[in-house]
Amino acid sequence: MLFFLTLCLIVGCKSDAKEGSAAQRSPAATSTGFSGSSAYTYAKAQVDFGPRVPGTPAAQKAGDWIIRQMRARADTVIVQSFTYTTADGKKLPLRNILARFRPNLSERVLYITHWDSRPISESAATEAEKKMPVPGANDGASGVGMFVALGDALKKTPPAVGVDLLFTDGEDYGEFGPPEVDVLIGSRYFANHLPAPGYKPIYGVLWDMIGDKDLRIPYEMNSFQQAPEVVSRVWQTAADLGYGDVFVQESGGLITDDHIPLLNVGIPVIDVIDLTYPPHHTPQDTMDKISAQSLAKVGDVATALVTRK
Ligand SMILES: [Zn+2]
Repeated sequence: MLFFLTLCLIVGCKSDAKEGSAAQRSPAATSTGFSGSSAYTYAKAQVDFGPRVPGTPAAQKAGDWIIRQMRARADTVIVQSFTYTTADGKKLPLRNILARFRPNLSERVLYITHWDSRPISESAATEAEKKMPVPGANDGASGVGMFVALGDALKKTPPAVGVDLLFTDGEDYGEFGPPEVDVLIGSRYFANHLPAPGYKPIYGVLWDMIGDKDLRIPYEMNSFQQAPEVVSRVWQTAADLGYGDVFVQESGGLITDDHIPLLNVGIPVIDVIDLTYPPHHTPQDTMDKISAQSLAKVGDVATALVTRK
């Protein structure tokens, strides 16, 4: 299977000839109609609320904002509100937000991004900075910005399949370990509280940290091992659109992220993530580190996957 997939992806490289024309397109004019500049503006709106740390007024406002944006774009919005007790006994109010397009279709695609931001900056240079929350321009807001702009595109051109956009909460709260403690909280909750009995999307994609100015997305290896057909589909679509230089055919290692709880309940979800990002988990994860151009490329792929059959 590994060899077969690699071969398919190599064959897919033939479409790299299209890269020249893609590079000449402006970020606001992707072939699918997805707007990278809108995605950037929406990401900035999230960052402007302040760090979206669960239980804070900023998180309350930012979550309310997402719900308002998606109610204006999607056919149905479901909010999963729950209280999570952390390992040290703290009660966190959390919300997963699920925005559904064409909810009556049984053939569906699930997209996931987390909307919370991290309470501490353990990778910062100084002890004082380590105690600060992460602004989360890339780690949180980039995915939210992409989803809201995707909402614009899907409102204009309804998808060919049903689409569920899941904004998870509490992804980045605690320790990734091992062992993992108080992380992937919203995604675990969703995996245990699916929106309908027998809910079984054909595949899913987690979009995380997709706004880096210097965007480069290798394979995430849990995804490559457990859902190779989804990896192949997404990387092939990116190559077809001329983004083979961004969606590179290299190993990016095994990453613990919101796709794992879904893989564990049999839903083939892959992680599209650029973890090579120097401001990761520092107070320097700010809007100047991400770009409309990067968001446009990823948003173009996300839109093409669900609007073309
Ligand atoms: Zn993070």
